[in-house]
Amino acid sequence: MTETATPPAAGAPTQAGPPAARPKLVPRPERVPDEVKAVAKVELHQHVDGSIPVDVTWRLMRQHGLAPVETLEDMERLLVLQPEEEGAGLLKYLDKFHYPLWVTQFYENVAEVAYEIARAAYQQNVRLLEIRYSPIIHVYAGLSPRQALVSVLEGLNRAEAELEGLTCGLVVIAMRHMGPHIAKLLARQAISEGQSLHERVGVVGFDIAGAERGNPPRLFREAYEIARKGGLGLTAHAGEDEGPEAIWQAIDVLGVRRIGHGCSAVRDKALMRRLARDQILVECCQTSNYQTGAVGRGEPHPVFTFLEHGVPVAICTDNTTVSGTDQNSENALLAPRLAVHEIAGIHDRARAHSFIPAHRRRL
Ligand SMILES: [Zn+2]
Repeated sequence: MTETATPPAAGAPTQAGPPAARPKLVPRPERVPDEVKAVAKVELHQHVDGSIPVDVTWRLMRQHGLAPVETLEDMERLLVLQPEEEGAGLLKYLDKFHYPLWVTQFYENVAEVAYEIARAAYQQNVRLLEIRYSPIIHVYAGLSPRQALVSVLEGLNRAEAELEGLTCGLVVIAMRHMGPHIAKLLARQAISEGQSLHERVGVVGFDIAGAERGNPPRLFREAYEIARKGGLGLTAHAGEDEGPEAIWQAIDVLGVRRIGHGCSAVRDKALMRRLARDQILVECCQTSNYQTGAVGRGEPHPVFTFLEHGVPVAICTDNTTVSGTDQNSENALLAPRLAVHEIAGIHDRARAHSFIPAHRRRL
């Protein structure tokens, strides 16, 4: 996953003139056009732990006497992936999730961070928001998995009540490295708070995340079966750190209707046809993919190839804090190649793939 530069072959003729500027590892938009800011957005792939605004984590750290550093600026360096840490692979990226977990072991804090994440998304004109979260890594201080779920729902319900036109849903994640048995327990917890049991925000989907290598999707078949029978929408992180075979498995064995990242699909023509034929949506997270090395320096992001092949996509942030991004920036990255009405069209079509039931949506 680390980026490798190909040295010129010995004796190869060199081009005359100054060398072309090396493309940046992680492209950043120079500016966000106002028309892009104005697009009503659909966010289908955003993690709670990686998206807590830095000042919120800092406040909670200090409140609980846990702050590991003296200043907000130093805290920010610990929470946001730094330029020297980019391109070092998925596992290095996942290291950044360590500090937020110190404060998100307490009911009130989890409710508060969920609310703050939704509020920040709303300011980016997000109107349909699915956030995702693994309750099992929030139980170290004594919360039950059920409380760890209800606390997020409470924060999202507060956001919906205060922010006009916003609709939220929660996707429950099973961490792959905890294995298939824990995943089954989490699928049962997820359906016990399923959207069909709630008038307000409930659990709408099920996902697996974490280290892909060594934890293939096929191991989680029974967990997905439980989630499917419980009426949840199915997605899976796949093809971020593994090849197209992981995506095939997620579709054929787990029955997912959406794929998280899915970058390696563009290497497999038959898979691209399948994604297009069955209209399986790919949740694209551009900045995150360059940072983890899922997409290499200077390579165009696969989102454009998906669009050319008729594969539905959603424009997603993955982790606004860890990746130092937001919805406006992710959409501005498309602006050099797509007109604003095309970007708005992506969000309109993504709405149809949301796991939040249509009757709950307010816009
Ligand atoms: Zn993700």
